[in-house]
Amino acid sequence: MSLWFSRRLPNNPRPEWSLACLIACGGLIACGSLIGCADPGKSDDEVGETSGESTSGESSSTGDTSTSDTTSDSTTGDGDPEAPEQYCPNGPSGECDEILGAPLEAGAAVVSIIPDCFETWDDVAANGSFDANEDTYLDCGCDRLCPGDPGYVAPDEGEGDGEFQAIYMAGFGNNRPTRGVRGAAEGFVGEGDGLWARAIALQQGNTRVVYVAIDTVGYFYDEVLAIRELLADQDIDWLSVSSTHTHEGPDTMGLWGKTIGSGGFDDDYRAQLRLAIAQAATEAIADLRVVDKLTVGRGDTSTTNASKGVLNVNSDHRDPWVIDEAIDVLHFGDEQGKTIATMVNYASHPESMADENTLLTSDYIHALRKTIESGSTWTRAPGKPGLGGPCIFISGALGGMMTPLGVQVTTPDGDTFGGGFSWEKTDSIGQLLGEVALGAIAQGELIESPRLEFGAQTFLGEVINDSFKLVFMQGIFQREVVEIDGKQYVTTEMGVIELGPVRMLTVPGELLPELAVGGYDGSQMFTDMADLIDPNNPNPPDLGQAPAGPYLKQRIGSPYTWIIGLGNDELGYIIPQYDFKLSDSVPWFSEAPGDHYEETNSLGPHIAGLVDQNADFLIEFIDWL
Ligand SMILES: [Zn+2]
Repeated sequence: MSLWFSRRLPNNPRPEWSLACLIACGGLIACGSLIGCADPGKSDDEVGETSGESTSGESSSTGDTSTSDTTSDSTTGDGDPEAPEQYCPNGPSGECDEILGAPLEAGAAVVSIIPDCFETWDDVAANGSFDANEDTYLDCGCDRLCPGDPGYVAPDEGEGDGEFQAIYMAGFGNNRPTRGVRGAAEGFVGEGDGLWARAIALQQGNTRVVYVAIDTVGYFYDEVLAIRELLADQDIDWLSVSSTHTHEGPDTMGLWGKTIGSGGFDDDYRAQLRLAIAQAATEAIADLRVVDKLTVGRGDTSTTNASKGVLNVNSDHRDPWVIDEAIDVLHFGDEQGKTIATMVNYASHPESMADENTLLTSDYIHALRKTIESGSTWTRAPGKPGLGGPCIFISGALGGMMTPLGVQVTTPDGDTFGGGFSWEKTDSIGQLLGEVALGAIAQGELIESPRLEFGAQTFLGEVINDSFKLVFMQGIFQREVVEIDGKQYVTTEMGVIELGPVRMLTVPGELLPELAVGGYDGSQMFTDMADLIDPNNPNPPDLGQAPAGPYLKQRIGSPYTWIIGLGNDELGYIIPQYDFKLSDSVPWFSEAPGDHYEETNSLGPHIAGLVDQNADFLIEFIDWL
């Protein structure tokens, strides 16, 4: 059966990362302080591989045989696997010696990350793009209160200064300043929407792990390092921060400013965000309580509509059609029977509101979290009650290209919304996913006496993508680039958290789901309304070359496997090497025919192999630990 919806929206949203035009931005800025600071501690042999000669090299899911000859003896003389740089309990820091029988404790906190300062504007053409000739901004300062507005006291910072204090929104095109925060009156469940840092602290004896999900498009490892410094007095053994990848929040990478190349990550907002994430982590630690009841479950998101299957809430805009249908849940209950937190892991781009919306929102994730916390509400059909406590949503393997764009969602009311964008569509998708997650907790498995462990390892990834090199050189990406023998590298990190039968692997970018779950044989479609390969694809993937399993989620090797996408970093798309295709004419800056947008926003074809190597290394160690 052929695809019944268009692969792109009729008003085709502009590409997420509009790098192609950088070429036209004039001469390069001379290599600044971001370039050329080689790390003398790293030898050539270690570059691009796991430090400490500990790669397994058997990266079976990428089909990248070029990495398998790097296999080294990954065990020490006594048969123990090589250890990663950081792990607990009993890790090399000496600060997490195991206390046998210590109870698991958890605490959670939610802190707003709406920018403190921005001015709003009237979008006369309602096209989401600020045009100085037709649109007007309100020069009312950071608080957006003008004389005569309720609550107005006096002029504040930026008021009447003749400048537009804009906060630019990320994810689609440039010049998309926000007008404000989505309000309660918009859609079904607008109340409480916004952007948040949502933290959970986990502690057992001397082991303390803090994870923070932030409603941002992406967040670099260097920012995470800065936050770790802010939290130096909090006895955290490992802090992990990941973006939900919302395309309806401020630019937190630098790509989506007023113009291409102008930088879009506001300096004040950068500082605010670091403090907010640190605050969320600190408050979660202060909230630590004994976990009396830990429930784990897995829902199937293809169950929201019998005829459409997974296509009711998600779609795949890159061949082959592969979807990770799972929505994973972990519910922490305290000794009073109250919810400490509910963690949810699912993979689809939070971009349901597409490119013309200018209100800050966490997209479908808002309604999903609200459903978990306080229940769903439909117009006619009954909703489901929530669990109380904060919901912490984690985006999974949402790369190339898990998206609600084009989806037409049918609700329990019998209404259908889509395929364009609307708050009703976005809320419906979120509530349906939230209801599947609630069902998974209700049917879930109680975990007795879980043990908390983690391991984490840094490694260098070569920047092969020429457009990324330009962005680094222009200082648009503000992170350290290490230069060795004329090649450029960034430092990143992966880690794994184990909690009883649950393993959560952090992946530093947007992993394509086929790397996590396979599905090249059509076994991961979960709808009858799509083709494995679009018959009109002019440059289809050669599935005969696709890697054999086991795939990443299978190799993680626990009953419940989570991928923390964009974990501690955003290195762009992580694409299986067999289908990594570049344009012949302008590689990296324009797309090859077919579904190859993602390559232009990827570190390079090697990144999937690096992720596999480091994952296997961490998994082998955590098996042993
Ligand atoms: Zn993306």
